[in-house]
Amino acid sequence: MDRRKFLKVFGTTTTLFTGSVFADPFISDKDIYISKKELPLFVSIVKKLNNAQRIIGYKNFTIISFDKLLYYARNYSQIGAFSKSEIAFIEKMFYEDPKKYHFFGKRTVKNLTDTIDKKHIAAIPKTGQYLFKEHSKKIYEQMIKDVDNIYLTSGIRSVVKQMKLQFNKIYAYKGNITKATFSIAPIGYSYHSIGDFDVGKIGWGAKNFTASFGDTNEYKYITKLKYIKIRYTKHNKDGIRYEPWHMKIV
Ligand SMILES: [Zn+2]
Repeated sequence: MDRRKFLKVFGTTTTLFTGSVFADPFISDKDIYISKKELPLFVSIVKKLNNAQRIIGYKNFTIISFDKLLYYARNYSQIGAFSKSEIAFIEKMFYEDPKKYHFFGKRTVKNLTDTIDKKHIAAIPKTGQYLFKEHSKKIYEQMIKDVDNIYLTSGIRSVVKQMKLQFNKIYAYKGNITKATFSIAPIGYSYHSIGDFDVGKIGWGAKNFTASFGDTNEYKYITKLKYIKIRYTKHNKDGIRYEPWHMKIV
């Protein structure tokens, strides 16, 4: 696409993120971008998702369903209702085959409107996150007994939460879907929706989501645990970057 036009559109939306710094785009000719035609629509959706998280609250937003998102958007002017074409764009992103973005993982959520049953989940104190009671929570509780100084950085993500993360990543990469997909599973394909979770080292903040986590003693102890595996190892077949912080549960 015409990158100058693209930047022009993005240039008008810098208020979306205060002090936002775009990630290095590493442009390749084969990469797939949000089309020029869909760009204003996409930017509008990103804005609505970010506002929705603010209105609904970080913790509740992690498990919110698509229908509930639409309900809040209709009823809160700070978000604003999603238009028919915005919903159609989201549906396209959810149901299309992400192989074209070099993502080869399995679909984890069948329908865009699938909900998370509250009976099966539990809030994890002091983390702002939820885990599935039956499998993930038990494993997490054992992990924090066995390894000092670690905590849950990301638990359950509904399709809406995953969409918010993916779309913001695409935005940070100036519309480059292929590059964004290297560091985040597409909507409908996140194992966070069915049980996987991320852990980090206490006090490490955003650094927990970098390859450096793999050099910590905490990580070394985790890899010695018989009951845990790392989902996205170096050069994994799914096409996701090395993520030493992402625990494979399902
Ligand atoms: Zn993860």
